[in-house]
Amino acid sequence: MKVLLTGGSGFIAAHCIDQLLERGHSVIFTVRSDEKGRKILSNHSGVPLDKLNYVIVADIAKSTAFAEAVKSNPPFDAVVHTASPFHLGINDPKDLLDPAINGTVGLLRAVKKSAPSVRRVVITSSFASMMNSAQHPMKYDETSWNPITSQEATLNAANAYRASKTFAEKAAWDFIRNGNPGFDIATINPPLVLGPVVSHLNSLDTINTSNQRLRDMIQGRCKDGLPPSFGVYLWADVRDVALAHVRAAEVSEAGGKRFLIAANTYVSNAHIAGIIRDQFPDLKNQLPMELDSDIPDDVYGYDNSRSTEVLNLEYRDLEECVVDTVKSLLAVGS
Ligand code: NDP
Repeated sequence: MKVLLTGGSGFIAAHCIDQLLERGHSVIFTVRSDEKGRKILSNHSGVPLDKLNYVIVADIAKSTAFAEAVKSNPPFDAVVHTASPFHLGINDPKDLLDPAINGTVGLLRAVKKSAPSVRRVVITSSFASMMNSAQHPMKYDETSWNPITSQEATLNAANAYRASKTFAEKAAWDFIRNGNPGFDIATINPPLVLGPVVSHLNSLDTINTSNQRLRDMIQGRCKDGLPPSFGVYLWADVRDVALAHVRAAEVSEAGGKRFLIAANTYVSNAHIAGIIRDQFPDLKNQLPMELDSDIPDDVYGYDNSRSTEVLNLEYRDLEECVVDTVKSLLAVGS
């Protein structure tokens, strides 16, 4: 397949590029600047430009942002849409809502108008679109939706982020229902994504949001006590999340489906810190003495069987994930 991948400079997208190439696909990724595009290409110096190249899409909040990017020769077969802001340093909820919603709808409109060869658009949604933190269901699965309202989205940055993912995913399904395009969609809904970062794009100060807790632990920022896990006790390794995107583009039965991508065990900050303490003795003094899990005894259940059955995922375990992540962070910091 020839795949358009949005947000090529992102944490999850870096692994999508690797796995798309490994599985023989060619990739055009979008980035906001030439500098970022060139950096990514230089990290794949052996790959010819007809296999991997980039186009600039400076701001996905603009409704016509993707008008040109979706046009290509030979044309695209599939699109993987990861670009969306994931940080909590905002001045206004619109800083998250507009790029998430306009970016998703604008992309789908552009594909419908100018890329008739595309059969599947895979969208990185989130467990944030499923989670009901006021009243967790007994078990989360692909029927779960976050009931967050527009008014609640304005209360704080975490709410704005969760709303951005929920409203963008809803808008995508509405587009499919009402717009009658020649393609279908699949959404990937991961919870906390942990895993190795690529060193050419990162510094420890700018590490992606979901790995920041590991960065803070190894830098001794949590010595006096771990922060709470904030109700998100599900996680997945970024390499499994990336493979889920690629398989969702490849497998025809994935069309029209959401996928809860969650590893087979729960996670808390204490679990992560415990693995770091055991596997990296030099970092032991950076961590608090007491490591108590804050996962409640009556924690919600979840069902990840659609991801194993349709996408054939086999989930990595937390120890492998934490060890590889810490190694990658140490490499960035050294
Ligand atoms: P990153 O912050 O690493 O990647 C976000 C990507 O989106 C970057 O390439 C960024 O570009 C791009 N982007 C953000 N805003 C804009 C904009 N206005 N215009 C153009 N590009 C933009 O985050 P992740 O890789 O973690 O996240 C990728 C996706 O996965 C997001 O949709 C996120 O919501 C979702 N997700 C992530 C989870 C996690 O735990 N990491 C969990 C569940 C879902 P630039 O680098 O130039 O800023």
